[in-house]
Amino acid sequence: MTDFGISAATSIVVLTGAGISQESGLDTFRDAGGIWARYDIDDVATPEGFARNPPLVHDFYNEQRREAAVAVPNAAHLALTNLEAAWPGRFLLVTQNIDGLHEKAGSKALLHMHGELDRFLCEACGKRGPWQGDMTTASACPLCGRAGTLRPDIVWFGEMPYFMPEIYRALGEADLFLSIGTSGTVYPAADFVRAARQAGAVTVELNLEASRRGHGLFAHEIEGKAGDIVPAFVRDLLEGRLPS
Ligand code: NAD
Repeated sequence: MTDFGISAATSIVVLTGAGISQESGLDTFRDAGGIWARYDIDDVATPEGFARNPPLVHDFYNEQRREAAVAVPNAAHLALTNLEAAWPGRFLLVTQNIDGLHEKAGSKALLHMHGELDRFLCEACGKRGPWQGDMTTASACPLCGRAGTLRPDIVWFGEMPYFMPEIYRALGEADLFLSIGTSGTVYPAADFVRAARQAGAVTVELNLEASRRGHGLFAHEIEGKAGDIVPAFVRDLLEGRLPS
């Protein structure tokens, strides 16, 4: 183990992806048997797909909403909550996940860059808000009252992710960047490691398999299941160590 001079002033930015929720029983996108093996991205995760076939898209997210509603956070989600609570410096958790498991685990400084399953976006009034249960083409907007205008508040391919200025500001000030359970294939999230490196941050990937081995993007690559490696990493970090 190496002492990297982690101090109270150290600012941590964490990025999570579908892999952190895999052990909570939620499918990832790109692994074998993952969601994209069963659905076409263009059909269910683009504005054009929604325009073509809104019932299909609603069914897709209704199924994910039902699964997420009964899922419980695993040891990796809980370790990040502990890290946030115990860390004396700045801490920001950015997630690509839409499942709400970080909130269930108690995370506070959390940005959902790709939206959330349990929120709606009204295409008529442009407003967003909390949503529970299935959404259909007949659902009415809780705010403007019009029916047939709702979509899940999910950022689809071709749309601008949320909170980009806040996220890049935090990356620009980061001393330590952790990427957990993400394949590094979806931009702009895949680029965050570069921004963190530019800011001089120590970069660490924790994933089942190193996503970009040989690219030199991460100073440290820790392979394993998030439920095992994230709690162990957090324990070391809180004791002032990073793996060498
Ligand atoms: P991805 O499916 O592309 O990659 C998942 C990564 O996690 C892979 O590199 C895989 O090796 C790794 N992984 C799988 N099981 C793991 C485990 N137990 N421990 C550690 N790592 C594990 O997912 P991504 O990179 O998050 O892709 C981005 C898109 O996926 C986002 O748009 C996000 O909204 C969406 N997504 C979210 C959920 C969710 O909210 N739970 C589920 C599926 C996809």
